[in-house]
Amino acid sequence: MYLCAMQILDGKIVAQSVKEELKQKVDLLKQEGKKTPHLAAVLIGNNGASETYVASKVKTCGEIGYESTLIRFDESVSEEELLKKIGDLNNDSTVDGILVQLPLPKHISEEKVINTIAAEKDVDGFHPSNIGKMVQGQPSYIPATPYGILLLMQHYNIQTKGKHAVVIGRSNIVGRPMSILLSQNNSTGNCTVTLCHSHTHNLKTLCLQADIIVAALGKPEFLTADMVKEGAVVIDVGITRVDDATKKKGYSIKGDVHFESVAPKCSFITPVPGGVGAMTIAALMKNTYLAATNHR
Ligand code: NAD
Repeated sequence: MYLCAMQILDGKIVAQSVKEELKQKVDLLKQEGKKTPHLAAVLIGNNGASETYVASKVKTCGEIGYESTLIRFDESVSEEELLKKIGDLNNDSTVDGILVQLPLPKHISEEKVINTIAAEKDVDGFHPSNIGKMVQGQPSYIPATPYGILLLMQHYNIQTKGKHAVVIGRSNIVGRPMSILLSQNNSTGNCTVTLCHSHTHNLKTLCLQADIIVAALGKPEFLTADMVKEGAVVIDVGITRVDDATKKKGYSIKGDVHFESVAPKCSFITPVPGGVGAMTIAALMKNTYLAATNHR
């Protein structure tokens, strides 16, 4: 039996190098007396995971030397009030990037919120105008999680040309843009892509044909060793809090991949935590820098 040497795709290390590169650029802006990039983050309610993500994004802004503003709303905020705030941020020339942490409370339309953020400040890359440009291969803000995955794969020199990539999950923020990016005619694309979702038949058969698997379905430890061929590259996007009485916090974080069984079969694999999550924030920071330079 062929056993390949498995390598961990270390999102923490790669994210750190992206952040250091951005910090150097920001230091230069400061030396030249120029304004530093400014990210405004909007958080609604007090969902534990969202709190953690936003806190981490704000902290990273500080580490790089960006300005950041955190705007908090109670869970009961009206859609109208939230949209008005986004409008104010769009018109605020000191703000370069705007992110509204998802998911939103049920009474607020995600579509309206995304469409209201000015496309040129949409550093999450969710606005239809940015998605449209991305599909056509035009310069745009690429959704942070798929962008982070591409940066990670690029860092480890993972070849995508001619490979069969299976993406599991078709959300607008992860799976679908990932499938488009991997299929593009460029150095991080040129894959033959199969996009799988909850209505896909024979998922296991498709996964067994994959050179690259991106698991983004939000089902803890869904992808098991019997679904992965020897030597595959496995990217685990999933982040789910699972009750765990042995942990101080009362939960542990699980990815969509059963890491222990899958890892020995892979050529490359991302861990959870320490893989895609860290890269998502790094990509957001890259988009924010781009927004600031475009803006001025
Ligand atoms: P989502 O719930 O919007 O979409 C899930 C997708 O998975 C859907 O398209 C659905 O059709 C598909 N799916 C569900 N069950 C399936 C099955 N049995 N077989 C095949 N497909 C199935 O989720 P999302 O927002 O894309 O997030 C997915 C996961 O990624 C979640 O765990 C989320 O927390 C995580 N996430 C992580 C990051 C990060 O930075 N690491 C960023 C965003 C989301």
